Amino acid sequence: MNTVLIGCKAKNDFIENLSSVLESEGYFVEFVDNSDKLMTIVKNNARIASVLFEYDLFSCKLAKEIVDLNEYLPMFLLKTNDFNNEFDFSVVGDHAQFIDCSLYSEIEVVNKIGKAVNEYVDAIMPPLTKALFKYVEEDKYTFCTPGHMGGTAYQKSPVGSIFYDFYGENTMKSDISISVGELGSLLDHSGPHGEAEKYIAETFNADRSYIVTNGTSTANKIVGQFSVPAGCTALIDRNCHKSLTHLLMMSDIIPIYLKPTRNAYGILGGIPESEFTRASIEAKVKATQGAEWPVHAVITNSTYDGLLYNTNKIKDTLDVKSIHFDSAWVPYTNFSPIYDGKTGMGGKRVLNKVIYETQSTHKLLAAFSQASMIHVKGDINVETFSEAYMMHTSTSPHYGVVASTEMAAAMVRGNAGKRLIQDSIDRAIKFRKEIKQRSAACDSWYFNVWQPESVDTVECWELKKDAQWHGFKDIDAQHMYLDPIKVTLLTPGLNKNGQLEETGIPASLVSKFLDDRGVIVEKTGTYNILVLFSIGIDDTKAMSLIRGLNDFKEMYDNNAFVKEVLPSVYANDPSFYEGMRIQELAQGIHKLTCKHNLPELMFSAFEVLPTMVMKPSVAFQKELRGEIEDCYLEEMVGKINANMILPYPPGVPLVMPGEMITEESRPILDFLMMLCEIGAHYPGFETDIHGAYRQDDGRYKVKILKGSK
Ligand SMILES: *Cc1c(COP(=O)(O)O)cnc(C)c1O
Repeated sequence: MNTVLIGCKAKNDFIENLSSVLESEGYFVEFVDNSDKLMTIVKNNARIASVLFEYDLFSCKLAKEIVDLNEYLPMFLLKTNDFNNEFDFSVVGDHAQFIDCSLYSEIEVVNKIGKAVNEYVDAIMPPLTKALFKYVEEDKYTFCTPGHMGGTAYQKSPVGSIFYDFYGENTMKSDISISVGELGSLLDHSGPHGEAEKYIAETFNADRSYIVTNGTSTANKIVGQFSVPAGCTALIDRNCHKSLTHLLMMSDIIPIYLKPTRNAYGILGGIPESEFTRASIEAKVKATQGAEWPVHAVITNSTYDGLLYNTNKIKDTLDVKSIHFDSAWVPYTNFSPIYDGKTGMGGKRVLNKVIYETQSTHKLLAAFSQASMIHVKGDINVETFSEAYMMHTSTSPHYGVVASTEMAAAMVRGNAGKRLIQDSIDRAIKFRKEIKQRSAACDSWYFNVWQPESVDTVECWELKKDAQWHGFKDIDAQHMYLDPIKVTLLTPGLNKNGQLEETGIPASLVSKFLDDRGVIVEKTGTYNILVLFSIGIDDTKAMSLIRGLNDFKEMYDNNAFVKEVLPSVYANDPSFYEGMRIQELAQGIHKLTCKHNLPELMFSAFEVLPTMVMKPSVAFQKELRGEIEDCYLEEMVGKINANMILPYPPGVPLVMPGEMITEESRPILDFLMMLCEIGAHYPGFETDIHGAYRQDDGRYKVKILKGSK
């Protein structure tokens, strides 16, 4: 952060001298001669430490534009001649300093700049990171853990020194022990750590926030363990992340599931409004042994595919003491008005309810892996919550992860943060339009985007009842909205009525093709691919995705060999794929999909839930006692499952521990079998199924409870 940007029509003596003094003080100096260029640089160079410009040339409008971009950036308005333009200070507040060059020496001005730059850095740096950097700069010696001692240990070892050189000095020096008192403690929420959590709470509109260093997987367990005492009933989104299944296995909770829908494309829908009603919950309580009125609810918001709920309605109507929105995928919603009313922390407190929101900071903001946050709005017993928190937290948290969680908050604060989010929204919408245009201009097939007819309005698009595009039957009005930054691309093969077409291009071919070229997509469905426009995506990355899609189309249309199009698939079994062309492979998988009528199968697989024979926690205890045995997947009807079964995609549990697939819920098994069959036919296309273990003969086995046949 040491570049000074100077805007002037021509370099006069004063400016020349000023820049040489700046350079002698170690600053880089950049010149521009018009305000457009100046704005471009301020936008694109985050390292600009201050801006100086001739105010009579660049006007008040420019000052205002700079403030709108970054209200903290030091700005100096130079008055170099006796031009007596009136400057409206009310527009820029106290951010701009006015400098009459005839009254100050160059050195005095440089001192002013230096002071402003220090204040700027101080204003934008969050508390813990600030304290941590200061600690590292002071270069203190410690005689405590970690054993590498600021990296020294690595430098004594040949292989260790390679590791040291890769990660660098600061990574080592900032990896310090919790015994450094001046940094406070994450587990006690004290000192700079406590300040960091307050800073995060303020940033995310929460009453209180917690930094979690082991991902939202852990954040979810902390919230669940605190909120549901043993023996109590909780409402759980059946589209839940596996961490919630693990919560049900750890804690004695009676789950009642909120059942979501699937659309014609096999995309996870939300939970319909009817599932939240008193009548529906009452019926489930009655039908579930031992269940009482639920104390707590967990809802995935947004869904994996980017659908957000009207959370205001849910908060007001769902009659439970606490509601937990698992917002692992949307840590950015507090920073753009398009998400108002669709988030856990948005808006005011809700009378007599506690609202939680957990977010994987690392997923869509800039933070190290595992960085996560719990936000709370409402009254909780802080000491008890802290016990649940500590139960799941290492006593040696990694300070790099902690600081990066705080840093993510610092980055989204203020005008600079709003712009960061706005840019990714704009970029995503631009990409959506680009794909649509190409699709319209193409007379053969092209990729499509799952979105409303018009995406001209910058908003989360409502899934309207009478609209066709979304492919959901009977959607509730003002209930669900599509987040623009979650882009689902559709490949040919399945139309919006959920019917399979004559030919098709399974999405897995496209994502494997992109993968081979270094473009990794977030998720691959049968005929859809999910890409995320997080704040790290720039135009080059978006372009390389489009180029990848075009290249795929070209190779597909030319019917190239699998060996050329998908070298990594070919490598799985060269003799099988030798001589095979891409269209043959695509149609082969498409035919299998048609044979099993996959869309219908997928829909029914999620339509009838398996039967809960015992609580997940009871089933897991039996497993721990060894009361389990193996069973072939195809023979599991009528048996009680020990572990959750979760195919990826779609990435949500299909069968929970303690549940039994019955004749009624047999489509679940058919769906799993079909996933296995594709893998058995086409090497390299095996589905990853958590809880089902592939045998050497290609069949899958699952764990069932003994005596349950
Ligand atoms: C990824 C995810 C989690 C877990 O988050 P991690 O930070 O990876 O531990 C929890 N819930 C949902 C809905 C997720 O998608």
